[in-house]
Amino acid sequence: MMKTYDVVVIGAGPGGLTAALYASRANLSVMILDRGIYGGQMNNTAEIENYPGFDSILGPDLSEKMYNSSTRFGADFGYGTVESVEDNGDVKVVHTDDGDYEAKVVIIATGSQYKKIGVPGEEELSGRGVSYCAVCDGAFFKDQDVAVIGGGDSAVEEGVYLTQMAKSVTIIHRRDQLRAQKVLQNRAFKNDKIKFVWNADVKEITSENDKVSGVKYVDKETGEEHVVPAKGAFIYVGIQPMTEPFKNLGILDADGWIDTNENMETKVSGIYAIGDVRKKSLRQIALAVGEGGIAGQEAFNYIQTLG
Ligand code: FAD
Repeated sequence: MMKTYDVVVIGAGPGGLTAALYASRANLSVMILDRGIYGGQMNNTAEIENYPGFDSILGPDLSEKMYNSSTRFGADFGYGTVESVEDNGDVKVVHTDDGDYEAKVVIIATGSQYKKIGVPGEEELSGRGVSYCAVCDGAFFKDQDVAVIGGGDSAVEEGVYLTQMAKSVTIIHRRDQLRAQKVLQNRAFKNDKIKFVWNADVKEITSENDKVSGVKYVDKETGEEHVVPAKGAFIYVGIQPMTEPFKNLGILDADGWIDTNENMETKVSGIYAIGDVRKKSLRQIALAVGEGGIAGQEAFNYIQTLG
């Protein structure tokens, strides 16, 4: 039998958990669905130093705290991979690999995924010098040498950002020129702290004492192997939204991100999107939480209009 809720939240990261808190505290019945453990990307984060209220907190600990808050007012949590969402006007149907749910409001909070380069050391040293987020981890590398792998907008923008704390930033790129916008390129070329390595085929993130010590690459022109010494390796070879199940709704842009208005509402009435899955320039816990609060409250306002 189909289970019916006022609100189904898809994704139990910081965005989804906050949306569930606001909606259930407004007395709506709420189901939070996730294909894995609650907490989302916070579970992949060792230390979080930029979430207000905590000098520093481990990602899994913050996940636990947010989960407890979000279920305090009666929201249910269930496992299931969402495969599609059907929009039947005032009623939506969420199809999962473990049954279907009916809801008046659906809040999409499925996040995004950083693309990996797939070399030895990348996985093992994640959180030990390998990072995909300069804003999150840059401060751990004060006065140290770091490397950025990539040559697009994110790589160059984050490389410039890292110069504020790091001693030097080496941008390692597989081509002989950057792909980033010209304005970003100029900013990077003018920055004395930034060095470039061109035509590099990255082979390994090297380590010493279980921490990143450098980036090993082969120069594609000479075939020679080199190592760029670095305490941090920031990888920016792309990021993709987790929006495959929502393709049929007509709410994705050409790259798969979801566009919303300031109330987090998509083009489809009663369907909201929050957190990293949205089209935006900064993806952080504090933002996902803020957007979750808006969507949870908007769910209440929208349901009032249904009569
Ligand atoms: P997510 O946290 O990505 O959660 C999405 C959830 O949706 C996941 O649990 C996933 O399992 C679920 N999901 C996806 N698809 C489906 C589906 N089809 N069916 C069911 N469930 C689905 N931010 C900071 O502010 N400070 C930091 O220090 C920091 N460090 C970071 C370190 C790392 C290594 C990474 C990767 C990110 C870091 N971030 C940090 C960014 C931060 O984690 C994200 O901005 C935040 O988690 C986004 O929250 P979200 O709720 O939008 O999505």
